[in-house]
Amino acid sequence: MSDQPQDPQNPVVRAAQDGFHWEGVAPRRYKEEAAAPFRDVTRQVLFSDPRLHGELRYFEVAANGYSTLERHEHMHAVLVLRGAGRCLVGNEARALHLHDLVTVPPWTWHQFRAGKDEPLGFLCLVNAERDRPQLPSDDDLAAMRRDPILRDFLEGR
Ligand code: MN
Repeated sequence: MSDQPQDPQNPVVRAAQDGFHWEGVAPRRYKEEAAAPFRDVTRQVLFSDPRLHGELRYFEVAANGYSTLERHEHMHAVLVLRGAGRCLVGNEARALHLHDLVTVPPWTWHQFRAGKDEPLGFLCLVNAERDRPQLPSDDDLAAMRRDPILRDFLEGR
């Protein structure tokens, strides 16, 4: 037995539970602002501690759902943990499979889409202190839609 006092806010182990949940981790709203467009996304913050300069979150996009198309100065490092889908990162639209890794560089447009019949769940490592995401202007969207591959992605085809 350890004589270290247990910190109830920071247990050593949070056991995995069914359905991609973890002991003591509550699912949250994906975004607080209603203005950012997205569909069927949940967010769980797995690691967040003032002594750690990063946060690890688990996002789950339900079948046919998608995250907000956005960009910002901070980066994301993503690992697919459940299901499959697609991502748009910069001028690329790519299929995503279980355990694929995705790097989102600073100031790069990005969006994640689940498959038609399966969710897309992923771990996302991010700076604890981060700037606010920007949404695309009409001009930004028009520029992306000039690329037929990005246009199909944005229209969910
Ligand atoms: Mn982002």
